[in-house]
Order: sequence, then structure tokens, then C-alpha cells
Amino acid sequence: MKLIMLGAPGAGKGSQAKVLSDKYGIPHISTGDIFRANIKEGTELGKKAKEYMDKGLLVPDELVCDLVVDRIKQSDCEKGFILDGFPRTIPQAESLSQALDQINEAMDFAIDLEVEDEVIVKRMGGRRACIKCGATYHVENMKPQKEGICDRCQSELVLRDDDKPETVQKRLTVYHEQTKPLIDYYRNKGILKEFDGTKTPDEVTRDIVSTIGE
Ligand code: AMP
Repeated sequence: MKLIMLGAPGAGKGSQAKVLSDKYGIPHISTGDIFRANIKEGTELGKKAKEYMDKGLLVPDELVCDLVVDRIKQSDCEKGFILDGFPRTIPQAESLSQALDQINEAMDFAIDLEVEDEVIVKRMGGRRACIKCGATYHVENMKPQKEGICDRCQSELVLRDDDKPETVQKRLTVYHEQTKPLIDYYRNKGILKEFDGTKTPDEVTRDIVSTIGE
């Protein structure tokens, strides 16, 4: 099963991707997580990506495409994979499609989680991320067992720079301009499946699984 998660930042792509990755036994590939890991390790890629991420802008396509194309060629992706946060532009979608064409493969579904901007702004203001392992929580809907502390690794939880209100607004503008056209792109390819992302996370998972199969 080869899946793409589409939707605005904060629509729930990451949370759904994690659950679906466990359910189908396929890797969850998050370009945002890859960049954040590189930032933490202080790599060249991390330094370049951070300049864009902190401003709510997209990292240039040339820094993203090869990274993903190399990742999906690894052996753990043979049974499939879930792309979360990629593609985010039409040129990225085209390079993914070309890479898969070369190995006679194609994506199975593009899963679009629909959530209005106002709901996104509220959600992201309450989001907290672990400074160490990157796990995400929400101060209202997905509280950690102990306030401000990660359940998984006991490290501190913070509001990520790119989840700050002014950055969220910028990210939404960028989403509408550059990423939303992918909805029509995948609709035209016949693989788009749209879901109401304002339902509870469990309901959204059930809707997705009942549409794409057990
Ligand atoms: P995310 O965690 O997916 O919301 O990604 C966080 C940030 O990483 C985004 O706001 C972008 O700056 C950058 N990023 C992640 N994926 C991509 C991508 N496919 N293309 C360009 N920038 C990306």
C-alpha cells in the first residue's frame, strides 16, 4: 500500500500516518521529521532547511525530492510506505511520479484530510512537541500523562517555532498557494480520497480504513 497524506499543516496527517503505518506495517516517511532530525544533528541539510522552516516557507524542491526518492527505494519500502508532508508542490509530485514510473510502480491513494483554517489555527496553538523524540501532543485533545513532559522519553514538551501563531498563518497561506493544487492533481489521477479531518482521530482512521481497505 503506497499512500500520500494531503491536507493543511495541523490537519492530522502525522497522527493518522503513524496509526496507518502500524496498521499496514509500512514505514511512515515524514519530510518534516527528516528535516527536524537534521536540524537537531546540525547537518548542512538541517541548516539550510531551518532557514525556510522557521519562516513558515517551504524548503526548496531540490533539497526535498532526491531525499524522498532515495528513501522510498530502501528495502523496508518494498511493501509500501506512507508519505506525510510530501509532495507539497506540483514539481515534487511530478518527480515522485517519475521515480515510481521508472520502477513500474504508482501511488495507490492520496488521502486528503479536510479541516478549515480557523480550526487549524486553534489546533496548532495547542500543539506541543517533544524536544528530544519529536512526539506531538495537544494541551486539550491529546494531553501527555504529565503536563509538559513527553510520555515516551520524559523530555520537555515545547511549542515548535513553526507552530507559533504568526508562522502558522504563513504556513496556511503557503499551503493554499502551493500545496492545495495537489488535490486536483491527484483527483485527475483518480486516486484522491477526501475525509472530514474535524472528526475525532479514531473516527478519521476508521473512515480511511473503510475506504482504502483492511
Ligand atoms: P511538517 O512537519 O510536515 O508540517 O513540515 C514542517 C516544515 O518542513 C514545513 O513547514 C516546511 O518548511 C518543511 N517541509 C516539510 N516537508 C516539505 C516538503 N515536502 N517540501 C518543502 N518543505 C517541506
